[in-house]
Amino acid sequence: MTLQGYIDSAIAPRADRWDCEERIPRQVLSDLAGLGVLGAHVSIAQGGGGRPVVEWGEALEAVGEASMSLLSVLTIHAMSSYALARWGEAEAQQEWLPSLTSGAKLGGFCLTEPTIGCDAKSVTTRLEEAGDSWRVTGTKRWTSAAELVDVFLVFGQTDQGPTAVLVPRETPGVTVTPISGVLGFRGARACELTFKDVVVPKRWTIGPQGMGFSYVASSTLDVGRFCIACGSTGLIRACVRASVDYARQRKQFGVPLSEHQLIQALIADMTTSYKAANALWRQAAKAREELLPSSIMETTTAKYFASTAASRAANDAVQIHGANGCGPDYPVQRYFRDARITELIEGSNQMQQVMIAQDALNAFATRRRR
Ligand SMILES: Cc1cc2nc3c(=O)[nH]c(=O)nc-3n(C[C@H](O)[C@H](O)[C@H](O)COP(=O)(O)OP(=O)(O)OC[C@H]3O[C@@H](n4cnc5c(N)ncnc54)[C@H](O)[C@@H]3O)c2cc1C
Repeated sequence: MTLQGYIDSAIAPRADRWDCEERIPRQVLSDLAGLGVLGAHVSIAQGGGGRPVVEWGEALEAVGEASMSLLSVLTIHAMSSYALARWGEAEAQQEWLPSLTSGAKLGGFCLTEPTIGCDAKSVTTRLEEAGDSWRVTGTKRWTSAAELVDVFLVFGQTDQGPTAVLVPRETPGVTVTPISGVLGFRGARACELTFKDVVVPKRWTIGPQGMGFSYVASSTLDVGRFCIACGSTGLIRACVRASVDYARQRKQFGVPLSEHQLIQALIADMTTSYKAANALWRQAAKAREELLPSSIMETTTAKYFASTAASRAANDAVQIHGANGCGPDYPVQRYFRDARITELIEGSNQMQQVMIAQDALNAFATRRRR
């Protein structure tokens, strides 16, 4: 079966149910692994699919169109497996990478804490040295899909600064507490995690000690932003499709809504946003494929645009659906809730604006004329 065939038959028709039940069956991730989606971003040399970035982006966009909850699970898995593939020691890679790239195990991402969000380098979780091991103590919050995840990439403080380490969910001292009733991404139910004297071997350290923020978190969040840019673009496409279908069949004042020009204006804006978001992530994909330094800003810009545009498109899709857009019979209320989350995660939109502005202040500085 093709990925699109699987999405149409097994994801899109079940996405609303996953949202209500706040869970995605593990089997879906295994099926996507079988279709090559879970290891697509890791090189063939490291046991992944080594797919061209643009192909991976197309897969993410297609999944995002059907279910942003599922897209977010793919995102945290991609982030943690990328970190291991890029920064992990050979021993840790041998132990974990094959099962992550094959999808036998699922990776998660633990940066945010109850009192630490955007200021991520200030995490308070402690990593204390105990011989050849780390003793991990602290609390993480908003960890996506933690009940599904097998191994977390956890960021904590050492005497030398922020450091990342792998922590399997089943390690003694790890407690996972689900947070029910979150606004969006409900299928990937976020959790609070506590680590009480959790002992893991030092060989599972990811990246140099003290560089957990500047190297590991930064590059990993960049991967997350690419996933969210592509997924949010899919979400905009879902808004266009739902709005066009509804506007064609719903009549008011004796004609379909689609004949009212103010409704057409909303559809025109969301269609334009879709094309722009799609072009931006493809530009980012090209830069990523060619390993250009500009890929970071291309990705940030694509994520910032797509998430903001997805929120606007979902808002307009609810408007076109009227009261039906607020009820359980149409998916646009889910789109609306999910779109809002995309503006907060993998670096909030304010953080993206700061990055884009700083880049522009350098790039567009007019040279003084003589
Ligand atoms: C559904 C969901 C899933 C998530 N999944 C994960 C996950 O898997 N792993 C994980 O680690 N985290 C996860 N998060 C957390 C997410 O990454 C954080 O919400 C995000 O980093 C922002 O942190 P915060 O919410 O603590 O906001 P805060 O840092 O408290 O910021 C609050 C507001 O102030 C703004 N702000 C902060 N600093 C500045 C500044 N200097 N200038 C201007 N504005 C500023 C922010 O943009 C935001 O609007 C998830 C969150 C949600 C809602």
